[in-house]
Amino acid sequence: MMAIEEIDFGELVVCDFCDKHFSKDSPETGGMLFSGHATCPECTERMMPNIDRYHERNYIQQVCPPDVKFHIFVMELRAGNNKVTIFSGDDAKKAIDDRFNEGEI
Ligand SMILES: [Zn+2]
Repeated sequence: MMAIEEIDFGELVVCDFCDKHFSKDSPETGGMLFSGHATCPECTERMMPNIDRYHERNYIQQVCPPDVKFHIFVMELRAGNNKVTIFSGDDAKKAIDDRFNEGEI
């Protein structure tokens, strides 16, 4: 398998919907993991009416407790793996298959 690039995000957390950055000093609490996407508290609140309207609650994989910082929630989801690996073409499909077979998100 040919990895094109591996990016280590370290402790940087970015909302997958609005691209807002969160550090360990960011005070925001709440948020969710929606269909594999880290969703900040603000986007969670904005998206919930449409999630209900289109019956998409089954895509909510995990919810950050309201008293837990979004940054900590995402860091725990990563479980120490802060790297994103970029693959090309067919390799990308295989990488995704492998990942799901391992039970990862
Ligand atoms: Zn957001």
